[in-house]
Amino acid sequence: MLDAGFFRRWLTAAAAAVDREAERLTELDSPIGDADHGSNLQRGFAAVVTTLDQEAPATPGAVLVLAGRQLISTVGGASGPLYGTLLRRTGKALGEAAEVSEQDFADALKESVEAVGRLGGAAVGDKTMLDALVPAVDALAESFTAAAAAAEKGAESTVPLQARKGRASYLGERSIGHQDPGATSSALIVTALAEAAG
Ligand code: ADP
Ligand code: MG
Ligand code: MG
Repeated sequence: MLDAGFFRRWLTAAAAAVDREAERLTELDSPIGDADHGSNLQRGFAAVVTTLDQEAPATPGAVLVLAGRQLISTVGGASGPLYGTLLRRTGKALGEAAEVSEQDFADALKESVEAVGRLGGAAVGDKTMLDALVPAVDALAESFTAAAAAAEKGAESTVPLQARKGRASYLGERSIGHQDPGATSSALIVTALAEAAG
């Protein structure tokens, strides 16, 4: 079973990973974006950690709703509302239970990834965060480690793709040959799940 402490550990580990890799995320966002993905997420996840420390929400649902809301309000770019929706919606689906099963979490996250796809009008193959998130949630029923490996593989799979959504799509064929920054940060966030569990 997963309690509020697990979800706080997850988001704290995700914040640390984003902080560590911020420069790389911004570098990836340079040739096919506006070079702010690392700083966007660094600011957003730092705010998440601060607000979780201050408010100490007691249930998994409350942790995720608070974190999602914080990302939506602190990250200016496209990734803020998308990641914010992912967490907020997952939190809402988990309700007020003090503990949730791995299966309930996997189901809620999968449904929320689908909602992120609808929100951004994107699907697998469009060279976005969904290229990492969709295979990750499909592997989540197996284990957090399997989900992390699937997300990493999904992020790498964006290199040869032409972007069809977001800023990178403005470049057309010139977006080919670069790894998508959002898929890369998604792999970090999913890998943090395995860290929190381990
Ligand atoms: P911005 O592009 O506004 O500067 P960020 O740099 O923070 O925002 O995030 C860019 C990332 O957001 C992209 O690499 C991509 O993965 C993701 N993204 C952008 N648009 C969409 C969309 N419509 N659907 C899903 N993901 C998207
Ligand atoms: Mg950007
Ligand atoms: Mg931007």
